[in-house]
Formats: sequence, structure tokens, C-alpha cells
Amino acid sequence: MSEPAPKPTPKRLVIVGGGFAGINTARSLRKRTDLEITLIDRQNHHLFQPLLYQVAMAGLSPADIAAPIRHMLSAQQNCRVVQGEVTGVDFDQSLVKADFGDLPYDYLVLACGARHSYFGRDEWEEHAPGLKSLEQATEIRRRVLTAFETAERTTDLEEQRRQLTFVVVGGGPTGVELAGAIGEMSRFTLAKDFRRIDASSARIVLIEAGSRILPMFTENLTSKATRHLEHLGVQVWTNAKVTSVTAEGVEVGSERIRAATVLWAAGVVGAPIGKVLGLAMDRSGRIVVEPDLSVPGKPNVFVAGDQASFTHQTGAPLPGVAPVAMQAGRHLAKNLERDLKGEAREPFRYVDKGQMATIGRSRAVAQSGRMQLSGFTAWIMWLVVHIYYLTGFKNRLLVVISWAWSYLTFNRGARLIVRRDWRMFRKAPPPPEA
Ligand SMILES: Cc1cc2nc3c(=O)[nH]c(=O)nc-3n(C[C@H](O)[C@H](O)[C@H](O)COP(=O)(O)OP(=O)(O)OC[C@H]3O[C@@H](n4cnc5c(N)ncnc54)[C@H](O)[C@@H]3O)c2cc1C
Repeated sequence: MSEPAPKPTPKRLVIVGGGFAGINTARSLRKRTDLEITLIDRQNHHLFQPLLYQVAMAGLSPADIAAPIRHMLSAQQNCRVVQGEVTGVDFDQSLVKADFGDLPYDYLVLACGARHSYFGRDEWEEHAPGLKSLEQATEIRRRVLTAFETAERTTDLEEQRRQLTFVVVGGGPTGVELAGAIGEMSRFTLAKDFRRIDASSARIVLIEAGSRILPMFTENLTSKATRHLEHLGVQVWTNAKVTSVTAEGVEVGSERIRAATVLWAAGVVGAPIGKVLGLAMDRSGRIVVEPDLSVPGKPNVFVAGDQASFTHQTGAPLPGVAPVAMQAGRHLAKNLERDLKGEAREPFRYVDKGQMATIGRSRAVAQSGRMQLSGFTAWIMWLVVHIYYLTGFKNRLLVVISWAWSYLTFNRGARLIVRRDWRMFRKAPPPPEA
């Protein structure tokens, strides 16, 4: 009797990044016993970034919109999760370099996302945090709520005005959502809670360098979004380029806005790891990919999501949105399976189902093909889509309850100022001089 043929050694697939692209790649390959998958992320959690502004604006708690990656993939026997930071790749030796050591691969997927760009003025970040992580969201929440507290305390009217002025830079969906949420919070949630200040008099300025906010939507929806924002007390400045950001506020050419809180929602660049890999990148620091999502000249290395520059469909890079990342993750998983079966790969094609942005508690704009919606109907649609895609049943339930509560009461349950200094036993301040 002949011996059974030895089982082929499983191929090693390393996925860097547990965002929408990385998680979708891993999950799509859950049945492959001929693959040993290692997913590396510097964070231990997958983050639902589209609802991050709700954490920043005290509507939701961090745990409502994040889930441990290890738990998400715990039932997947062919996948191991490692928390660590990838610092480089040795493409000649097929080795991923991480802060915990080197990891060999047969296939590599880079799905490290993007980060904010301050257009060469990185020193602005200190005064104008962006919104990409839970740490940044809780820092923004701290700054916004602290501004109201400081305004209540101070007797200097000019300083009070500065504390009650909020500037949001960038008129894309995140900037619009942040500005709308501050407007709503100051006018409805906080208005009754203070005694000395009128929280509803807060000045909110949304600054956009282009000729209109939400340029990815039709002009009609942009006008409607502008009106919704103005209804919440937000001043919309277009064709306005920020030329300076300091602790005092911002300058827009010769105009100066004194503001204690400035938030950054402009420019995005590919994840910093891209810079050290020596691969071709576009002007926004995203790695250029072939139609099958592989890196030119490196067929066993793929890039997906915000980190990839895929221009083969429209001539311009696909937008940095969650559906692109999810579809690309699933598509490259299929191409990898085709490889394993000895079949030819297929080019990626993004199916655009539309886009939406919310403005305050009950208004949104939505666009899908020729369909355009705004106001309450669009907001309900926004709600359903976001709940549907939110990870994990518990999170969905908690978010629905929080939103229902906020909707009925105008309250925001997560209005906590969490200080950055965590030590209980700090050195006491020196006694006042005699
Ligand atoms: C505030 C905000 C609101 C948004 N709203 C929407 C929306 O309404 N609709 C929509 O479609 N899209 C929205 N987006 C965009 C959407 O979230 C992104 O397009 C999507 O998250 C991209 O997925 P990704 O997997 O490419 O990257 P990410 O989801 O960013 O994941 C990248 C992962 O890689 C990890 N990582 C990065 N570098 C390293 C490294 N060197 N080593 C190890 N791990 C690393 C990170 O920790 C992260 O977990 C929003 C984004 C933001 C920031």
C-alpha cells in the first residue's frame, strides 16, 4: 500500500493592520487550512473610525466603537494575532521587521491606513489635534469640555470669549460632523448646565480651503449641509486657507480668530511605515498598487485600504473610505486563494454604493448614484448603515440605547473630562512663598 502524500506546508501570510482592510482579508481566508495567518497591529483593538467623532463629542464611550482584534478572530483557527509595531520589511529576505522581532512571510498584506497631514506644518498638531484614534478622540473631548469649564470660571470676558470659540479646519465629512456636533452640544446639551456663561453663545467656525464643504457630494447637498450647520450656529468659511495655528487660535490670511480649541480635519497621508519601505508612492504618501492590489514587481506583497493608491478604475486614487478598504481586503483574499489554486488573479473593481455625512442629531446628507437625500430621512439612513456595520452585537445594542437616550433627552452620556496625569501620588506643589 502506498504512503499518503505528505500535506503541503502551509503558506505564511502576514497581515499588517487590523483595520477594515486587514480584518476583512483575514476573515475571508478563515477556511484555508493551507494558510498560517499572522495579523499584527500596534493597537489591541479594531476601531470603527466613522463613529470616532461621537466619542470626541461625548456621545459615545470608547468601548462602544472598538473591539479587541484577538476576540474578533478568536474562532479562526488559522489566524494568530500579535500586538506590535511593524517598523520595516526586508523584501529580499521576505521578512517583516517588528518591534518584537522578525517574522518570515510567503505573502504579505500591508493595511496600515492613513494619518493626518498638516501640509508640512507638523508643529500645528499640538494646538490642533486630528481625529484618527481613541486617544485623539478622548483628548478632543477633554479639550472641548475643558473650554466650557474654563469659560465658566474665568472673570476675564475676552478670555471667556476665546474659550467659547471653536475652530474646525477642513470641510470634509469629519470636519462637518465635528462642527455640527459642537454646535448641537453647546446649544442643546450644555445650555442648561452652566450658571455664569451662556453655552449656547459658543462660536463655531468651520474653515475650508476649497470653494465648498463636502466637495464629494453634489452642490445641492453641499448647500443643504451648509444650511443645516448654520442652523446649529456654525459659521462656514470657504476659500479660506489657514496660515497659522498657535495656542492663541488660528490665522486665515490677515484674519485672526482667537480660539482655545482648534480641531484638525484637513489633509490625509498614507501611514508613516510607507516611507521606509522604498516603494513607489503617490503625492499623498499612499503606496501605488497594480490592478490586482499587489505592489509593482512584488507579486506576493499586497496593499489595501487607505494605504493603497489604486488608480486603475477612475484614473484618480479611490477615496479613503471604509467600503473601499473592506472590498479591497476581500478581493485580495480571493486573489490569494486563486494563487493557491494555480488560477489567474483578477483585477479589483470597487462597487460604490454611495456616501453620507451627518450634521447634528437628526440631519444628514446622503448620495447614492442619482439618489440624493437630506434632512431626517438621510439621518435615519445614516443611523441604520452605521449600526449595521458596527462590530459586535453588544456594541450595536449599546450604541442604539445611547443614541435613543440622547435623542429623547438631548443629553450626552460620556461627558467626562479624563485628565492625562494618571498618578494619584504626585509630588505636592511647593508651598507658596512667604
Ligand atoms: C474620523 C473619521 C471618520 C470617518 N468616517 C467615515 C465614514 O463616515 N464613512 C466611511 O466610509 N469612512 C470613514 N472614514 C474612513 C475610514 O474609517 C477609513 O477609510 C478606513 O478605516 C480605512 O481602513 P484601513 O483598514 O485601510 O485602515 P485603518 O482602519 O486605519 O486601520 C489601520 C490599522 O493599521 C494599524 N497600523 C498602522 N501602522 C501600523 C504599524 N506600523 N504596525 C502595526 N500596525 C499598524 C493601525 O493601528 C490600525 O489598526 C473615517 C475616518 C475617520 C478618521
